[in-house]
Amino acid sequence: MKSSGASSPVLIIGAGMAGLTCAVTLHRANIPFLIFDRGNEVGGRVRTDEVDGYRLDRGFQVLLTAYPEAQRFLDYKKLDLQRCYPGSQVWYENRFYRVADPFRHPMDGFRSIFTPIGSFTDKLRVGMMRMGLLSFRSMPDNCSTINALGKMGFGHSMIDRFWKPFMRGVFLENELSTTIRKFEETFRFFSKGDTVLPQNGIGEIPHQLARQIPNDHILLETEISKVRPNSVESSDGTKWEGTAVVLATEDFHANQLLGLGKEQAEWNSVDCLYFSLSIDDLPSDEPILYLDGTGNGPINNLTFVSTLSDCAPVGQALASVSVIGKKELDMEEIAKQAKNQLTEWFGKKVEGWKYLKGYRIHQAVPSSRTPPRPKPAFTEVYRCGDYFGLPSIDSAMKSGRLTAEHIIRESQS
Ligand SMILES: Cc1cc2nc3c(=O)[nH]c(=O)nc-3n(C[C@H](O)[C@H](O)[C@H](O)COP(=O)(O)OP(=O)(O)OC[C@H]3O[C@@H](n4cnc5c(N)ncnc54)[C@H](O)[C@@H]3O)c2cc1C
Repeated sequence: MKSSGASSPVLIIGAGMAGLTCAVTLHRANIPFLIFDRGNEVGGRVRTDEVDGYRLDRGFQVLLTAYPEAQRFLDYKKLDLQRCYPGSQVWYENRFYRVADPFRHPMDGFRSIFTPIGSFTDKLRVGMMRMGLLSFRSMPDNCSTINALGKMGFGHSMIDRFWKPFMRGVFLENELSTTIRKFEETFRFFSKGDTVLPQNGIGEIPHQLARQIPNDHILLETEISKVRPNSVESSDGTKWEGTAVVLATEDFHANQLLGLGKEQAEWNSVDCLYFSLSIDDLPSDEPILYLDGTGNGPINNLTFVSTLSDCAPVGQALASVSVIGKKELDMEEIAKQAKNQLTEWFGKKVEGWKYLKGYRIHQAVPSSRTPPRPKPAFTEVYRCGDYFGLPSIDSAMKSGRLTAEHIIRESQS
């Protein structure tokens, strides 16, 4: 049995955003801890791989600078955050139309009024939402985003051509059945701050958290298979004793460890495919999101991530493509179909683009069809994770912080 006595640590299982934030909070309060992860790196679902000179994020994800927990724990300057253009290029009727945030790019915003992506009144509605004059607050928590947008009066040209591809990319589900609360929160964060990526990829975020705690307190490639209120045991039989145990794993792993069976929330999933291309083939060096406004797919959204972060070798560029709801097709088939769509979008030069790697992420975010549990569970064994909020980097961090603060209060009483 390792670690016992007066300075017994808090044992945290899972070094994703929730577990790391819990660890940093305890460390700041001088409470000893150990953090375990079965993976070979910290980050959980927020990881970046190095492949043949490219940096590939495990799925396209972004940080919103308005996230309160990110502001609290991250040093934005050191992350060298690169900003996305606040708007997108929407493919519709054989060309791209720019839809821009009029509050940040007034001229582009003004031009957006005359595109077929939504009517004039739709755009007025978005402006009113932006100014807080129109809100979804009176709608119940179980109202889906798609129903709420309809009730709010948005027409099909706005819902089908803009809201669907944009929010599918955020929710990672096609029907927009996600609760309107998640839409509201996302809209608020997008409006209040920037959409960014660290220069070295999304994985820099958990790495920055991990650098705030002593390295020898992080035990990687250590799968915990048994959990009791004051001890844990790894698959190879090693045991650790502590003052408390925090399960910062995905919900189903926590349930399994607690002997609650395999019961788990529904998950939204996404396929992320990377294509490499010559830098000369880039349609533009603007870091902007491309959306499929036709609904024909398979690509829902695309970003030339090398316009944002340092993720491709010199002379090369990198396209990150997100495909949602095509689980019946294998990745090679999706890559083939995606390339056809890219050819339609960007022309014959796409023939020279190379499919580098695809990630099929079955468990990307817990489904938010219904509102989440209100706060982390403080029972004999503590639990935290993004599933205690509207799932995001921010909600994972918040649940980790709240759990640690509870343990700190308990230790003082
Ligand atoms: C493709 C994709 C796109 C996303 N896009 C965005 C976005 O744009 N913006 C945003 O804010 N959020 C986004 N998210 C969501 C965000 O990444 C997650 O909400 C957040 O990272 C979840 O963190 P977590 O700590 O709760 O869980 P996890 O990251 O899942 O961490 C759980 C950890 O527990 C470990 N673990 C499990 N069981 C054990 C065990 N028995 N022993 C030891 N270790 C164990 C796992 O290895 C894992 O590291 C996206 C997610 C994905 C996958």
